[in-house]
Amino acid sequence: MHCPSCQAIDTKVIESRVHFDGTVIRRRRKCEQCEKRFTTYEKYEIQMPVIVKNDGRRELYQRGKIHEGIEKACQKRPVSADKIDSIVNDIEKRILDTQEIEIATKQIGEFVISALYILDIVAYVRFAASYWKFEEINEFITGLSTVPSCLMTTNYAQEDSRNIGLSDI
Ligand SMILES: [Zn+2]
Repeated sequence: MHCPSCQAIDTKVIESRVHFDGTVIRRRRKCEQCEKRFTTYEKYEIQMPVIVKNDGRRELYQRGKIHEGIEKACQKRPVSADKIDSIVNDIEKRILDTQEIEIATKQIGEFVISALYILDIVAYVRFAASYWKFEEINEFITGLSTVPSCLMTTNYAQEDSRNIGLSDI
């Protein structure tokens, strides 16, 4: 790897560390010539499935869309940007775990809903309300009192976020 500072051809790896569940390696490198230190990440090249929309149209996977939806649901809630990022990572992992070449937006929506249910009940209600159509409102009301079947095990559950009033929504 060339030095980003002086473009020298030889740089030395001074430290390697495995990140996440062994899917990413972080390397600290040092330029032998100008002594500049920099970091590189090595990860698998991953192919996300194609997204199938409700009307049958296909589109390429866009992480930003999931991120945006979750961010909107979490507005003014005690959820950090880091936490939102880690939820999106978890959802991407679930999408990859399906090992399908195509996945329905409905399925992804369910992954998001189950993640938000654990994270923050207000964000969950907001997302679910915008996600389900008005005709499905009965299903939504049932959904509010039932734990989603596809709940994931995460470490970002917040017990204290459940103490809310309706005015928070
Ligand atoms: Zn250099």
